[in-house]
This record gives sequence, C-alpha cells and structure tokens, in this order.
Amino acid sequence: MLRALPCALIALLTGSVSAAEITTIPDAAVKQAIALRDQALKDGQAYALLESLTTEVGPRLAGGVNDEKARNWAIAQFKQLGFDKVWSEPVTFPKWVRRSESASLVAPFPQPLAVTALGYSPATPKGGVTAPIVMFNSLDALKAAKRDDVKGKIVFVSARMKPHRDGHDYGIGSPIRSRGPAIAAELGAAAYVLRSAGTDSHRLPHTGVTQWKEGGPRIPAAAVSNPDADLIEAALRRGSVQLKLQLDCGIEGDYTGANVIGEITGSEKPDEVVIMGGHLDSWDLGTGAIDDGAGVSIGMAAGALIGHLPQAPRRSIRVVAFANEEAGLYGGKAYAAAHKQEVSKHVLGSESDFGSDRIWRLSASVKPESLPAIDKMMQVLAPLGVERGMGAGNGGPDLSPIHAEGMAALSLTNDGTRYFDYHHTADDTLDKVDPEQLAQNVAVYVSWAYMAAQADGDFGSAPGAFKQNGDDD
Ligand SMILES: [Zn+2]
Repeated sequence: MLRALPCALIALLTGSVSAAEITTIPDAAVKQAIALRDQALKDGQAYALLESLTTEVGPRLAGGVNDEKARNWAIAQFKQLGFDKVWSEPVTFPKWVRRSESASLVAPFPQPLAVTALGYSPATPKGGVTAPIVMFNSLDALKAAKRDDVKGKIVFVSARMKPHRDGHDYGIGSPIRSRGPAIAAELGAAAYVLRSAGTDSHRLPHTGVTQWKEGGPRIPAAAVSNPDADLIEAALRRGSVQLKLQLDCGIEGDYTGANVIGEITGSEKPDEVVIMGGHLDSWDLGTGAIDDGAGVSIGMAAGALIGHLPQAPRRSIRVVAFANEEAGLYGGKAYAAAHKQEVSKHVLGSESDFGSDRIWRLSASVKPESLPAIDKMMQVLAPLGVERGMGAGNGGPDLSPIHAEGMAALSLTNDGTRYFDYHHTADDTLDKVDPEQLAQNVAVYVSWAYMAAQADGDFGSAPGAFKQNGDDD
C-alpha cells in the first residue's frame, strides 16, 4: 500500500487519471457484503464440506485411487450448492506412487527412524541403500561441497524451521526438500535425506515434492521426522553414522485428472469472473484437511452464499478445485494455459492454500486506480482482524500462473504459526481445523469476492499487467 498509494495520488494530482477511472464499490454492495460476512460467521457450510471430503474421500494423492473420487465429489457438491455451471478441464502429469518406505541407523547403533519418501523420488535398489551419512546445515553448504566428500554417501541436510505467523521459515525448508536432492545427485550421492520441513517435534515426517533437472541424475530422496533428525545429529557427534534407506516408490506413466470448476453466473457481466478456490489434491499421509481441503471448502461455501442471494451478482463468481498442486502446480499451470486469452476478464482472484486459521493480512496486486475499492474492502474486513499488507499478493500458488499472465490478485494470509506442525504429515486431519476460524475465512472470502463482483470499474487485469511481481510469495 505504501508503495502503490502514492502512485494513485500522483496520478490523480497530475491529472493523468480522471475520477471516472477510479474503481469504487457501490454503497449497496458494501452493505450486502457486511450482511454476507456476518452470515458467513454463523454458517457451518465450509466445515460440513470439509468433514465430508476428509471422511468420504480421504487422502487425495494426485493420480491416486481417490483422484477421480474427489473430482466426482466436487462436481456433486458444486451442483448441490446451487452453482449453475459446473465443468472439468483436463490436467495431465506424471503419476507418482508410494508403496513402502523405511529407514534405520545401522551404525554406530541400530535404531529405526520415522521416514517418508519425497514425491517424484525413485525407489532404492531391492535391499535398500546402506551408506555413511554426510551432513550439511544448509543448501548453500551442500552446493559448496566437493564431489569426493559426497560421492557414494547419503547426504543429510538438517535445518530446523521455527514457527512464525507468516510461515516464512518454509522459505528455508522448502528448497532443501525441492532442490536439495537434485544437487546431491549431481555430486554423486547415493541417496538424500532431509530433516523434515516442519516445526513440530513429533515422529511424523513431512513429505512433499522434489524437483529433478530434465535428463539429470535422480537418487532416492526422503525426509525424517524432527526427533529422528536430532538423533542423527547426536550420533554424528559421536563419530561416523551408517544409514539404511529402503524406498519402494516411483513414476508410473502419465495420468489425466482435471480442475473442477463451479460458477455462479453474473447478471450484468457474465463473462467477467471473480475467482477463488483451493487445490483438491493432497498428500497421502493424512486426509488433506488443512492442505488443502480447507481452501476448496472455503471457496465453495463463499460462492454458495453469494449464489443464494435473491439477486445474482453483476459479475460471475468462479470457484476452482485445482488438480495436482502438490507435485508442481500442474492444475494452476493448466488453468493459466487454458485461460490466458481471457486474462482481462479475470477481474480479481485469490486462492486459499495456507490452512484455515484466522486470516490476518490482505496484500493486493492491483492497479493504483482501484486502491479506493480495496480500501472499501478493508472497511468490511478490518472487523474480522484483517490488516492491510505492504507487499504485493500473487493470489496463492494455483492462481500465481494466471496472475503472472496479468490477473489482478489478492493474497490473504492465514495465521501460519501452527500450519507447519501438520503440513504434509499424517497429522493433517480434520481435528486440526477450528470451525470458528474456518468460518472467519469464509467471511473474508465472501466479502471481497462479492464487492469485486459488484465494483464499478476493474482492478487492472490485462495481459502482462503484473509481470514485475514475478512469482514472489
Ligand atoms: Zn497446499
């Protein structure tokens, strides 16, 4: 805001922007948004959806046995909630399967470890890999390693994430998981193990995807739980440590899933859409309640509240349950590829994919002339505890590709203090979701989405409009 508002003021003062170009929210829309907000706080719809998804479908590994079941669930829910258009758009990706996984220290003493394979990890040879561990404290230390120190060994990268409200330590943990194995493979490592990218102290390892270089070497890659990482470090302080890792997992051809989309058709500008949602896939260890059944449920419930108004919104409300976010934003990329010609018609978007604890911050990537409209939204959101963020928002993971094409976007930040205790573990289950906090999320989404649908003027969506924001998060 501090960066963008002066631009708006300068534009107004210098007369390069006329009052007619300023985006505003009509008073009646603000009043209706307040009513929707207050209704959402008392509405149990999102929780009922999330309970249904995590109970009746369960874990939703992309391309796995529940992929189609989850899509059928989303189609049925959209229809039942009164979305008048419901359709699917195909998304294709390499299908990765997890069969079994185990690890143990073999020297200086035998000790079984809690371990999980990373997505797109290949299997170990039959009988597993047994090798000495070489430890690094950061990705940079690994990058600087000599080939002779790594070759034939099991690389172990150990950096402990601390909890923060904005979850920024994931910026350390995530690259160690996603990029570390490829670096270790190029240095000739036999396998790769990381301290889980998580903030808990349970013997529950955190899975997640890893990325390989096209045509580059691939090695078995896994995460151990935080207490097991502590144990490995303690053993290393006593001398050399041998680890045995056994993974049975790998890629089984291609799979075609789909983004499932529900829409409430607008009354005046049906081809202009306000877009929200979450990703329908999850990791397989838990039931994907916080990541990201919550996001799908929040979008569906917020859309349904608008759909149940006696008067349809001026613009259409589109809710997307994205395919396969976890293994590499496949659904979000496919959506952007299919819709980039209509980027100007994507008036404003935001995906929920950071759990469902209270939303405390709104960051906007919009044109300066629409900041008065964002200020109006803030008047409705501030009583929910939402502050105005200083940075630009990219709209969340699955909407970041279409944002990069030029869609105006909001980023709504949840309180992420607890998020990385459960993220990508067997503990990502329904009991971690607080129904009241989930309802606060729906209240936030229904408020901004309705006001965006009713706004006089746009938020600056146009081809290439937000290129400078890149994929910052
Ligand atoms: Zn997610």
